[in-house]
Amino acid sequence: MLITFKQAASKLKAANKILITAHILPDGDAIGSTLATMQMLRALGKSAQVFIDDDVRKNLHVLPHFEEIRRPVDGEKFDADLLLILDTSPDRIGNVAKMTDAPILNIDHHVTNKNDAGDLYVEPDAAATCEIIFKLAGELNVKITPEIATCLYTGLATDTGFFQFSNTRAETFKTASELVNCGVKPNIISEQMERRSAAEVLSMRTALNSLKIFYGGKVAGMFLDLPTMQNCDSTEGFIDLIRVIDGVDVAFMISERSEKVCRVSMRSKGVDVSKVANELGGGGHIRAAGCTLYTTLDDAEKILVAAIGKAL
Ligand code: 5GP
Ligand code: MN
Repeated sequence: MLITFKQAASKLKAANKILITAHILPDGDAIGSTLATMQMLRALGKSAQVFIDDDVRKNLHVLPHFEEIRRPVDGEKFDADLLLILDTSPDRIGNVAKMTDAPILNIDHHVTNKNDAGDLYVEPDAAATCEIIFKLAGELNVKITPEIATCLYTGLATDTGFFQFSNTRAETFKTASELVNCGVKPNIISEQMERRSAAEVLSMRTALNSLKIFYGGKVAGMFLDLPTMQNCDSTEGFIDLIRVIDGVDVAFMISERSEKVCRVSMRSKGVDVSKVANELGGGGHIRAAGCTLYTTLDDAEKILVAAIGKAL
């Protein structure tokens, strides 16, 4: 059921033992928003714990309290009176879904949120879930410590491509400005987020070598096969290498994660790629979306290029 911002805040106030989670393949917004909320709820005297059912990109391990994030082990249960799901609909939280039967509070900024379980507060205009959590701190009267601010700024910065993407709005800068006042060091966060291993940069070269152009230059794609992916901790930002090509509206990258499991990332300047992703079982935002295709790399290319062609 859709609820208002104030109702979402009330649900958090009423809860005492909160299990917090976010999507698998977690990004800066997923980790930043969960860690910030965990600290905020603890500051209110509640018990709060973050579980994420996936590996997390190394760059994000520097965030305050990162070491407290847990991954559920087989069949593990957690005693909670609220399951707080951030930055995704409840279908992308892996085995955390099985840890508790507590009521769900879902806070998200994805326009494709399926609204299929529990109470949902969704704000599609928010640049990041961290932008919503910042407002929530105000509503809950929680003081934003430098540690909380660092987590929130990281989510805000990474989801907006460091304030470059179309989701960046006046409120995003205002929030960022207030977070800097709370003790954030933007240059340090930028440096930490842009760090890459040599293996990752070499994988970037492989990705660029695979570049293909479709539909007379409107679409550009890159392909990473399984052996390349096995040497690569993260492909975060690879797609930005080709998003910038003159005349390209939709950029995509397909990476093979295991046999017949291909991850798709899309970025666009005009086309609504959230619709393309949705059609293929995924989701996201108008200008940044993704999905998983359970087939070979070659087949995934055919399916995706056809679906993008229809949307052009
Ligand atoms: P990325 O390309 O960075 O992995 O994802 C771009 C955006 O699309 C992110 O906001 C991400 O949460 C969303 N997204 C990516 N893959 C999926 C998916 O399989 N399902 C849904 N619902 N959203 C996705
Ligand atoms: Mn997000």
